[in-house]
Amino acid sequence: MSVPIIRTVAALREDVAAWHKAGEVVGVVPTMGALHQGHLSLVRAAKAECDRVIVTIFVNPKQFNSAEDLENYPRTEEEDARKLAPFEVDAVYVPDGAQMYPEGFATTVSVAGLTDVLCGAVRPGHFDGVSTVVTKLFTQTQADRAYFGEKDYQQVQVVTRLARDLDLPITIVPCPTIREEDGLAMSSRNLLLSDRARVWAPELHRAMEEMAAGLLAGGDIAELRAAAIARLERAGFTKVEYLDLRACDDLRLLEKPDVPARLLAAAWLAGVRLIDNIAVG
Ligand code: AMP
Repeated sequence: MSVPIIRTVAALREDVAAWHKAGEVVGVVPTMGALHQGHLSLVRAAKAECDRVIVTIFVNPKQFNSAEDLENYPRTEEEDARKLAPFEVDAVYVPDGAQMYPEGFATTVSVAGLTDVLCGAVRPGHFDGVSTVVTKLFTQTQADRAYFGEKDYQQVQVVTRLARDLDLPITIVPCPTIREEDGLAMSSRNLLLSDRARVWAPELHRAMEEMAAGLLAGGDIAELRAAAIARLERAGFTKVEYLDLRACDDLRLLEKPDVPARLLAAAWLAGVRLIDNIAVG
């Protein structure tokens, strides 16, 4: 099975124009490659709901706030194509940097408020990079539906807001987080974990589950948070960037899960930054 790889926006537009002319619904799954079952679950959801599916693979330099992180990010295009083959997607759009950000590119899309907290607070410029590339991917693909993972919960909120604010004619579809058997949220960055760190990485999810259960039982958030951080430190995590209870609708900080709430965390293990989030209640 060959995978229809497209590298230019002009070629992509030609295909999409024909599909839309035929009245077909087009779905897009934006990714940075190094595909795993989490990405493939989005492809599966898109295939189930759309007539045509485009997977995009672009390691977006604008959303990295460290040159080293960008350099180290896994790139596995051939393997990705092999993993996508059984899904028979209609296009795999793999633009290069010049296609996405041609000489003189000067525009930034920036969502205020939602991006001040969590990953936005610790990774300056990250969400501007995400918002800019996602807006471009939406206008380049002209897709009707876009599939995003709740693994990146704040990202889904930001993308939903920008599509609404800019009247982009696209529906954002959030999809559940896919986990390894031991609970670790699947992530391309897991490839960067040493064997030893991989053994301890699921402690992030376990500590969050324990904290969520404590919150639901009416426990004190400061005590539960301190216990979770101590547990992570025992597992070898070196830094917990945040471990917050936040409202699902606008990500405001909560003390108790008295409205629909989510526990969100980012923590470093052996030089790798892991993020996760779970519903509380
Ligand atoms: P990335 O390649 O990391 O930029 O991710 C591309 C898309 O896949 C984003 O919408 C992510 O939220 C989603 N994704 C990544 N990991 C998972 C996962 N474990 N479960 C579900 N979706 C995921």
